[in-house]
This record gives sequence, C-alpha cells and structure tokens, in this order.
Amino acid sequence: MHLIVAEKNISARRIAEILSDGKKITEHKDTGVSTYTFGDTTTVGLRGHVVEIDFEPGYKNWRSEESTPRSLIDAKTIKIPTERKIVALLQKLAKQADRVTIATDFDTEGELIGKEAFELVRAVNAKVPVDRARFSAITPQEIKHAFSHTTELDFALAAAGEARQSIDLMWGASLTRFISLAARRGGQNILSVGRVQSPTLGMIVDREKEIEAFIPEKYWQLSLDTEKNGERIEARHTHGRFHEKGEAELARDRTKAPLMVTDVKFGEKQDRAPSPFDTTTYIVAAARLGFSAANAMRVAEDLYMNGFISYPRTDNTVYPASLDLEGILKTIRASPFKKDVEWVMANRRAVPTRGKKSSTDHPPIHPTGPATREALGDDAFRIYELVLRRFLATLSPDARWKTLKVLFEAGGEEYTATGGQLIEPGWHAVYPYSEAQETILPPFTVGEHLPVKKVTLDEKETQPPARYTQSKLIQRMEELGLGTKSTRHEVIAKLVSRKYVEGTPLRPTLVGRVVTESLEQHADMITRPDMTQTIEAHMQQIKESKRTREDVIRESRQMLHRAFDQLEANEAVIGDDIRGRTAEEMNLGKCPACGGTLAIKHLRGNTQFIGCSRYPECTFNIGLPMAQWGFAVRTDEVCDKHCLNYVRLVRKGARPWDIGCPLCHHISSNKESLAEIPSLDDHLVQKLQAQHIYTVAELAHSTPESLAKRLEIPPETAQTLIADAGSVLAKLRRRSECRKFMRDHLIPRKGRSYAKILTSLKTAGITELSGLAHADVAMLKAAGIGEAESEEILAQARITYYGQVLREIGIPAVSLKKYVAAGITSPEAFCSHTVDVLSKRTGMSSGTVQKHVDLVCTYLKKPVPKKVSKIQVERGKKELLKIKGIDAAVIGRLAPAGIINASALLEADADNLAAQTGIPAHKIREYQAAIQKKRDTAIIQL
Ligand SMILES: [Zn+2]
Ligand SMILES: [Zn+2]
Repeated sequence: MHLIVAEKNISARRIAEILSDGKKITEHKDTGVSTYTFGDTTTVGLRGHVVEIDFEPGYKNWRSEESTPRSLIDAKTIKIPTERKIVALLQKLAKQADRVTIATDFDTEGELIGKEAFELVRAVNAKVPVDRARFSAITPQEIKHAFSHTTELDFALAAAGEARQSIDLMWGASLTRFISLAARRGGQNILSVGRVQSPTLGMIVDREKEIEAFIPEKYWQLSLDTEKNGERIEARHTHGRFHEKGEAELARDRTKAPLMVTDVKFGEKQDRAPSPFDTTTYIVAAARLGFSAANAMRVAEDLYMNGFISYPRTDNTVYPASLDLEGILKTIRASPFKKDVEWVMANRRAVPTRGKKSSTDHPPIHPTGPATREALGDDAFRIYELVLRRFLATLSPDARWKTLKVLFEAGGEEYTATGGQLIEPGWHAVYPYSEAQETILPPFTVGEHLPVKKVTLDEKETQPPARYTQSKLIQRMEELGLGTKSTRHEVIAKLVSRKYVEGTPLRPTLVGRVVTESLEQHADMITRPDMTQTIEAHMQQIKESKRTREDVIRESRQMLHRAFDQLEANEAVIGDDIRGRTAEEMNLGKCPACGGTLAIKHLRGNTQFIGCSRYPECTFNIGLPMAQWGFAVRTDEVCDKHCLNYVRLVRKGARPWDIGCPLCHHISSNKESLAEIPSLDDHLVQKLQAQHIYTVAELAHSTPESLAKRLEIPPETAQTLIADAGSVLAKLRRRSECRKFMRDHLIPRKGRSYAKILTSLKTAGITELSGLAHADVAMLKAAGIGEAESEEILAQARITYYGQVLREIGIPAVSLKKYVAAGITSPEAFCSHTVDVLSKRTGMSSGTVQKHVDLVCTYLKKPVPKKVSKIQVERGKKELLKIKGIDAAVIGRLAPAGIINASALLEADADNLAAQTGIPAHKIREYQAAIQKKRDTAIIQL
C-alpha cells in the first residue's frame, strides 16, 4: 500500500481527489480520523503537529527546590503525542505500507511536521521507503507534478524547525517561571516571557514612551481660495509650514488681489502596478478590509487547503519563471470576475511586476482556482477576491496620470495648486482597493489675473508617531527579523491574550509595560531584537547545513545562562518592582463609602469582586461574575459620575465582556430587586444610594435605628423597610436557588441555552423550587425540555423542595434520607400512610415515626392520626372481613391509606381512596353502602 501523509485532513482529501483521477475513493473513519483510499493508495491527514516537545518528567512543580527556573535551560526534552488517535492510526497504516510519501506543507514548519511523521513511521516500520512531495498549491497540476517528482525529506530544514522549538521552549518556560515566581504570580496571572514575544512587546512599549515623550509643536499653514469659470480652487502658500506665527500673519496680510498666474507646468506620472503578495503585504492589505492578522491567515490557509489560492506563507514577491501565469488566468476566468480577467488578458503588461524579495520555496500568493461567494461565504470570498485582484493587478499595465502644477503670486507671496488626472487607469481598473484620487484643475494661462476669495491661516500641531496597528507591527517585525512569516500573527495574538497589549492600534497595558521595563533594566537582551535576530541567523545556518542543531542550541543555552546570571542577582528587586507597580493595575478609584481605594480582588477558585482597601473597617464591595466568565481587568475609561475606572471581563478566545463603571453596573443590576420592596419608592432609593446602600441584602441587614438616622425617616418606616427587604431577600435567594437547581440538573446540550429555558419557565410563573415541585411535565416540555428529562427534573425538584420543607418542619436529615429512600418525599405523604406502614417501610421505630407524623400534620394543620394498638388493628380487621366483598387482600391495600376499620372506611372519600389504594371507586362505594346498611340494621335491632 502507498501511504500519503498530508498536513491536515482536508488536504488529505483534496490530494486523494486529485490523484485518484476519477477512480472511486473510499472514506474510512477510524476512531474519528478519516482516511481516503483509491486503488492501492491511502491518504491520511495530520492535525499539524501531532507530537510536541516538553521537558522530561520532574519539572512540573514550579516551586521545586531542585528544578529551579534556571534548571529548565539544561533540562532534557522528550516528544509526547498530542493527537494520540492520529498517531495510533498513522502507525497502524505504516505497518502495512510498502511506500510512504510525506506531503505536508512546504516550509520549515511543514518539514518538521513531516519529520515527526517520518519518525513515527520508522518506529514501527524500519524498512519502508519514505519520500517527500513538495507543492505550493493544492491544484491538479501542482499535485501531480509533485507526486511524480518526489524527493527526500530535508532533514536540515526540519532540524532548524526543531532547534527553534527547543529554544523557544527553554527560553519561554525558564523566563516565564522566573519572572512569575519573582512577582509571586500564579494561575491565570502568570507573567509570560518569550523569545519573540518579549522583543515585540518591547517595540510596542518603546513606541508608547515615544508618544508620551512627544512635545507637540505649533505651526501655521497659509492657503487661499480663488475662482475660475465658477469653480473654487484652493492654492497653498509655497513656504509650507511656518514655525513663527508672526511670519505667517505677515505673509497673510501681504496677500492681496489680484492673484496672478506666473507659471503652468504640465507633466505625466507613471503609477506603477503593485507587486505580488507575500505574507506581510497580504496581511497589510487584508487589514484594510478589516481582517485582523490572525484572522487573515486563518482564512487564507482555508482557501489554500481547498485549492483556491496558493500557499499563503511566503516571503517571495517575484513570480518564478515556472509559474504558468497564462494557465492561471484561464482557470480563474471561470470565477465571477470573468470580465476583469478578460480585460487583463487583453491588456497584459509585458513582464509581471516584481517586489524586492525573491526566494525559491514558494511563489507569491496567487489564486489557483475559480470560486464563488455561495461556495465560500462572505469573509472567505472577500479574501479570495483580494488575492485574485492583486494577481490581476500585477499583470496589468501601469496607470498614467497627467499632472498640472500652477504657480500664483499675490502681493509678492507665492502660492501653488496641483492637479492630477488619470488618463490611463491601468491596474486601477481591476484593483479598487487603492483609490485613484483625481484633482482636475481648469486650464490656466501665464499672466492671467484671478480674484482672491479668501485667505486662510490654519494653526496646527505636529503629531506624535502613530501606535502600531497589527499589520504595521508585522511589517516592522519582518524588517527586524523577529519571528517568521508563520508565527508573527500568532505572537501578536498571544500578547493580546496575555493582557500585555490592548486596543486597535496596539497599546501596552500596565503589566505589559512593567514586565518589559523590569526585564530591560536587569537583562535587556531578552527585550532587544538582536538576540532573536542572532538566533534566526543560526536557523538559517542549520538549514544550509553549516551548523548543527545541537551546536546552535548549546550557544542559545549559554546566552540564556548569562541572562539568568543578571536576573538571579536581582530577583528580589525585580519581584518588588513588578509587584509594587502592578498592584496599581487593579485599582479603580475612591471607595464611595469611605474614601479608601476600591480595587479588583481575585481570590482562589475563580471568585472575584471589588473591595475596599479599608476592609474590614469598610465592608463596601461589589460582586463580579465568576472568573470563568472572564478575568476582571481595569480599562482606561473612567465613569463621569463615580470617577471609577471601567471593568472588563476578558476570556481567551471570546469577546471581552464590558461591565463598564462597576458602580453604575451595580446600581442598575440591583434596580429590579430593590423595586420589589413595596415600601421603597424612588425617593427612598435615591436616599439609600446617597448613603451607599445599593442592595436588598444591605438594607435587610441594617438596624432600624441606624437606618432611620441615616435616611432621616421615622423608626417605624425603617422597621417596615427592613422587614420588607428581608422577605424580598428570601425570595431572591429562593429564585437563585431555583436557577442553580436548573443549572445543576439540566444536561448541557449543544444549541440549548439555560437562559432561554429559565426565561420561558419564568413566563410560566416558575421562578422558585416550590413552583417547580408543583409543576407538571407539560410545563417543562413547553420550556423546551424533553419528556424523560422533565420527569427526572420534576422528581429531583420535589425531593429537593420537600426535603427543605420537611427539614424546616423538624425532620432530621438522617431520617429524611430514610423516608426519601422509602419513596416518602412530600409532607402529604406522611399523612396518607399509617404510622405502622411508615415504620415498616423506613425501618424506624413507630415511636420516632409517630413523632415525625405529629410534626408534619401539625404543620399541614391536619388532624394528627391517633396511635393504633395491635389490638385495635386486629379488631378492625375482623370488622372489615365481615363486609361483603372485603378479604385479606383488600385489607392489605386499605391499610397503607390509614383505613383500619369500618368507620374509617365509611368516612373516607371514595375517589381519593381509590386513587390511593388502586381499588376502583365503585367497589369502595359498595363497601361503604354495605357498612351503612349493617349499621342501619343494628340501629333498628336496638
Ligand atoms: Zn471603603
Ligand atoms: Zn458610574
């Protein structure tokens, strides 16, 4: 069997489709992993890396005495499978293979993934020949060519990838641990440091400092408006920026009509068509369409896997001679851009444009097949269109502009106006992303006099350098050799998720800044790009087989040890510095109750809240959702009313949840529950808030005296308020208990939302457990819960709710368990059974049971059943047996319902008794008639 190993499942399927040449493909699923078989060939897709490197066991404990952060530098590493199912399947297939072809992506990362697959294959099959297929697009032409010209795995290229992995692990792990431990941070709060990440963050911090240090300078600009043929024309003073206001004013005052045309220059300008896309220029262009760098890459990779565009990770901006441009044009003519493609075919430039970088691994990004909006969806289609149009632009003629420059003079001051007219749109015709702005001026003749309509003096300020956008940062990283085309966008995403930077454009957070500055001060090589550049240069040497992986890793270890020499000597200083400066990042402003400092507090176990620095003297606090909904951080925005910083909940991979001003949020989220207190009107709410009482609980827990004093109300009113608040609080607790119950008992299911179910239960009037206990299956079904699950939930709700009631009545928890086990769950059930039956079923003494029944019956205001002796039972039995139709079996069914003699049977409600005993009601009525008859006879006999 010929086994083909692709980088992803989707490429495995595409390769099978192409190579099978119409032969039947059988898809087979093995433990969730697909393989595609045609003839004697099987393709299987990996999930990128299926193994990862980690330290040998023994380094997990951060606080271990032996394995210090520094010890990680020299720690041995091992490879562990991360995708066990795929690894197992690959090895199973490899055993049967007589040829294996590695068809992973064609770059360092892909070569390493290929080598990992190679090692997994070799581990189970020592002899099978393994070759490598390399391609830049998953198109029939490229794939067929690659598989008929397979080569060897490039072990030098893979070794470079491995070296990078090892170095990144050792830098990242040792430094992250060191800094986090020094700053005493753990869990979600660790401070990560990385080989590429830290210098990148350093650049963002540096830019921020430049902006802060920037002192704007004022300058003045002079312009005038004139008119020709009824058209308004603006001309600028040729001096440009005036740095002295007086000078500008003088020039303005000298500007007097008439305005004379002194020179008219015609010209022509070439506007070169853009060069082909490499990864960076592509990301920049996609950013203009609103795609983040990571998103742009994700979409492009998807398009590549599906054969619509070529491999999107490339440094090349020159089409290789081997690339069949004509063929591509013909292929994409079948796309919705037929008209544009045909225009380019008819107007093609002699030689396509070329950029500055040329490399041999991949061609620039270009379309490889036709696609439609319907097939791709909006986002992917916009990216596809961008790549396609860029390709068309690189084959289109340059644009040509006609330019016009006019010089004027007014009172000895010189002004100028320029115009531009697109005379040949060239590539602009197919590439609308960079707009061609025309300024068309009317014709002028030298010596002509014109009016001066208006003279304008503008005061302006010089601007600080701009913050980095993601795409600008990626460009800068590329210039500095930071990271690779495949990792740059991931590094930025990591900085955001680690809360080191925020916003668009990117700004450092306080922590990001503090960590950077601390490292800069004590081991600046970590934050400078030089170190990373050196390592990148070493990677290149490995690829060219000029150095070995081991050699490069050894040198990197030495560099890191030198950094640790500095860091360890300053551990205490670094720790104090970071801790001292980051404590501030959680401060929100003044405590409204006491003037202390309010700050976000994170406790163990996901609890977070806002508390006062003067605790325990001041107990003012604001609750926050649990940290699994997002880790609470401060933002820069400040509430106008409360002067508190806004709070945001951030969660990896999710949109941040903006709480806004915590106090405004607190007030509004308590509004509804306060409104439930009948004796509380708006005026009183205002008064309460002025006294910093915001919640029902705070009100319920106040004392009448202090409340009366604080609100300036009579003590009786205060008393009523507190009592009302107390009952609302109890109700709120019951509601939240009911919500928690539903959350605990509803099975999580995809596409089903707790919130929706809770809302529809609320509409049905079910907000508390008692309501749920008395609900029926139909009501739950209406809320979107299945029948079986509804029954289960109702049964559980009854047990829980009645359990609470029974415990309140005074049934001890131990006994309650026994009752529940015996099926006695509701208070009513206590009264519908005799003490004997209860005692028998639960195994408790009849004395204990009697005590419980007394309690329950008193609570339910039902008559307490009298204790019945054995003699009474026997006597009753005899009496009943005399009634026509009653035998021992009937007595056995009547007893649990408390019917132990003829009188009891006569008094019972036939329908109720029927329901309890299962004896048909008409039978019971017959018995009752028989008893009545007997009694009547007895009276007559008397
Ligand atoms: Zn306080
Ligand atoms: Zn506020």
